[in-house]
Amino acid sequence: MSDADVDTAERIVVAGYGPAAHRLVERLAHRGHGGAVTVLGAEPEPAYQRPLLTSVVDGTLPSGALRLPAAPEGVRLLLGVTATAVDRERRLVHSDDGRSHPYDRLVLATGAAPRLPDLPWLHGSDGQLPAGVRVLRTLDDTAALAGAAPVTVVGGGPLAVEAVLALRRLGRDVTLVHRGPYPLDRHLDPRAGELLSARLRALDVDLCLGRTARAYADGKLRLDDGRCVAAHDVLLCTGAAPRDGLARSAGLAVDGGVFVDDELRTDDPRVHAIGDCARPAGPAGSYGGHTTAWEQAETLALLLTGDDFPPARSRPVLRLRARELDLVRLGAPDGADETVVLADAARGRYARLSLRDNRVCGAVLLGLDRAIAAVARLYQRGEPVPADRLALLLGAAPEYAGEELPGDVVVCHCSNVTGTDLEAAWQAGARTPAALTAATRASTGCGSCGDELRRWCTEFVRREEAVSA
Ligand SMILES: Cc1cc2nc3c(=O)[nH]c(=O)nc-3n(C[C@H](O)[C@H](O)[C@H](O)COP(=O)(O)OP(=O)(O)OC[C@H]3O[C@@H](n4cnc5c(N)ncnc54)[C@H](O)[C@@H]3O)c2cc1C
Repeated sequence: MSDADVDTAERIVVAGYGPAAHRLVERLAHRGHGGAVTVLGAEPEPAYQRPLLTSVVDGTLPSGALRLPAAPEGVRLLLGVTATAVDRERRLVHSDDGRSHPYDRLVLATGAAPRLPDLPWLHGSDGQLPAGVRVLRTLDDTAALAGAAPVTVVGGGPLAVEAVLALRRLGRDVTLVHRGPYPLDRHLDPRAGELLSARLRALDVDLCLGRTARAYADGKLRLDDGRCVAAHDVLLCTGAAPRDGLARSAGLAVDGGVFVDDELRTDDPRVHAIGDCARPAGPAGSYGGHTTAWEQAETLALLLTGDDFPPARSRPVLRLRARELDLVRLGAPDGADETVVLADAARGRYARLSLRDNRVCGAVLLGLDRAIAAVARLYQRGEPVPADRLALLLGAAPEYAGEELPGDVVVCHCSNVTGTDLEAAWQAGARTPAALTAATRASTGCGSCGDELRRWCTEFVRREEAVSA
C-alpha cells in the first residue's frame, strides 16, 4: 500500500471483536490513527484470549483473567452487536440493532466457528447439535463442560489434546476418539505419536484411534467398530471453519475464507480481512510469512497508518498448554540435511531434530524440558548447533546450560517480546506479570508463554534481591 493510498483520518469499521480485531485497534491507536474507529462484536463480552479457554475449563483461571486489555480510548465498541450486511456501494455496514455504520475502510475480523464433522447423526433437522454434544470456542462454551460425568472428545489436534488433559484434571473419565493413527498426527512423526499416546494412556485417557463416531444416544457414543463408549458429554474438537458469510453476501471473493492479497485486502480495495476469517489468495505461507491472527492485525495496522509491509518474523512454534506434557514442535523438517533422533520410551522422552546447514529447521521435543529451552533458543537465533547433539538434547551441553534466561530470546512469539523488552518494562515500573503484559503485550496472543513470563518476573525479583543483599 503506498502512502498515497493511506489517509490516517479514515473512518474504519471492524466487524468482529476477537483477538485479531483487538490487536488491530490497539495498534492503530498506538500508531496515531486519527480517524473514527467503530468495532462491532457479536459476543457480549470484550475480546479475550481464546487460546486460554482450556484453562477456564479446568478452573486454573477465572474467565475474567482471559480478558484482553481495554480497547483504546475513543474506539466506539458495540458489544452484542452483529454486522449483518455490507453495502459496498454506499460503504455502509448494517447491524442487527437496526443501525448502519459508514466506513472508508472495512476490516472483516469475524474469525471462525467450530467445524463439525460430516456425520449424519450430528445434523438434526432443526440445525441444533444433539443434547450433550458440545464445542469449545467461546467463554460460554466452557460453562457447559463443568461436571463429573464421563466425556468423550472427538478430534486429534492440539485443542483436542489440551481439552482432554483439562477434563482429566477435573477428574472426569475421558475417551478420545480420533480417526488418525495417533493424536497430533498432522504435527508429529509416528514415533513421537506413539510416545504421546502412551503418555495419555498413563494419564488414564481411553484412546480410540483410527475410529469415527457413528451415533450418539442415551449417553452412549457408538463407534464404527461397534464399540459403545459412555459419554455424558461429547466434545467436538474437529477444527474451525472461517466465518465468511458476511463477505460472501457482500459479493466478495470467498472460498473457505475471505480471499486477501499480501496486503490483507479483499477484491474490494476498501475492504480487508484478518485473522481466522481470512484466506491468502497465494500459496500457503503468503502474507510474506505473516501467519497468525495477531501478526496479520499488526501488519494491517502498519499498512493503514502508512508504513511499509513489515518483514516476516513468525517462526512456527506449537507448544501444548498442559503441565503434564512438555511437548513442543518447532518449524518443519522440510529440506533437512541431517536428522538426529533420541527415543527413550521408558521415560517418555523423545527428540527429533531436523538440521539444515547445521542449524535447526525443525524439531519435535517431548518430555525434555531443558532441551526445549536450549533448542528453541538456537532455532530462534538461527545459530549453529553444538557438535555434541546428544548433550544438547539431554540439556547437558555446557555452553547452553549457563545462561538460563538470555535477553535476546523471544519470550512471546505472538507479540515478538524478548527478555530484554521485559527487563526494560520491569525497570520502567512494571513489577507483576500482569503489569509486564500491559506494558509489552507479552502473553496476549496464544498465551503459551504465561509460565515463562512468571519465571522472568521471579528472576527480576531475584536479581534485585541479589544486588541489594
Ligand atoms: C482453545 C483454543 C486454543 C487455541 N490455541 C491457539 C494457539 O495456541 N495458537 C494460535 O495461533 N491459535 C490458537 N487458537 C486459535 C486462535 O484462538 C484464533 O486464531 C484466534 O482467536 C483468531 O482470532 P480472530 O479475532 O480472527 O477470530 P475469533 O477469535 O474467532 O473472533 C472473532 C469474533 O468475531 C465475532 N463475530 C463473528 N461474526 C461477526 C459479525 N458478523 N459481526 C460482529 N461480530 C462477529 C465472533 O463472535 C468472535 O467474537 C486456539 C483456539 C482455541 C478455541
